[in-house]
Amino acid sequence: MTAPVVTRFAPSPTGHLHKGHAYAALCAWKFAQGNNGRFLLRIEDIDHTRCKPENSDQILEDLAWLGIEWEEPVRIQSQHLDEYRAAASKLEQQGFLYPCFCTRKDIQREIERAGQAPHGSEGPIYPGTCRNLSADEREARIAAGEAYALRLDLAKALDHIGHEITWHDGIHGEQRCQPELLGDAIIVRKDIGTSYHLAVVHDDGLQGITDIVRGEDLFESTHLHVVLQKLLGLPTPTYHHHQLLTDDDGNRLAKRNQSITLKSLRESGISVESLKSEILGVQ
Ligand code: GLU
Repeated sequence: MTAPVVTRFAPSPTGHLHKGHAYAALCAWKFAQGNNGRFLLRIEDIDHTRCKPENSDQILEDLAWLGIEWEEPVRIQSQHLDEYRAAASKLEQQGFLYPCFCTRKDIQREIERAGQAPHGSEGPIYPGTCRNLSADEREARIAAGEAYALRLDLAKALDHIGHEITWHDGIHGEQRCQPELLGDAIIVRKDIGTSYHLAVVHDDGLQGITDIVRGEDLFESTHLHVVLQKLLGLPTPTYHHHQLLTDDDGNRLAKRNQSITLKSLRESGISVESLKSEILGVQ
């Protein structure tokens, strides 16, 4: 017997939901329904510099309008920061993280000096400046109160978990794990004490998510998530990265275009049926 499907929708309340989110939420919801599975909702609000509680309330209202039903309680990430801290400590104690004192400017300068800048989905790949600092220098800089992030020592991580890793995408097929596309990614940010990558991996593991249905914009991040799952001893779910909804000109829908928020569409009198047939017909 195969394990029952558990999937989720995990929006960040940085603004109001738009049609692209509705499409993503409906993809996950339809997947759960089609597989007789459970559907969870998680509010990914760890970034207090960008997320607002009133946006979370609006998200619940919008999803209910779409006819989506989720299990209670909704997991609110900002209420679990201690868990992400514990997961980071576990990685740190095993030597998979190192402190990075670099500012964006430092990184830019180092890249210019080296004369090359391989890019990943999150910007230039970190050139490794702080990876080889001596223990003494690290301690002195921390003691002096310098702010630091914690980065993944990818080479060390892969030596531990193995270099030949694969993961499965239900839409795109078997994937060779390529975490080098993100390099020594930041696992604990300087400002919020965790990162999207760590929180999402921890929560998916904790909540027993078997299938992650999300947009192709996160495809590259999945390589890193699989590495973190292995380091933390968590199972790797099956991923389903769906295409992103675009406007008539082929541009990805963005939150800054206020006119297309679900709230404004609803207020303008559009019926949920016509919205659904519009966005689901576009596949
Ligand atoms: N919170 C993320 C976002 O809104 C999505 C995370 C995920 O689905 O893994 O972009």
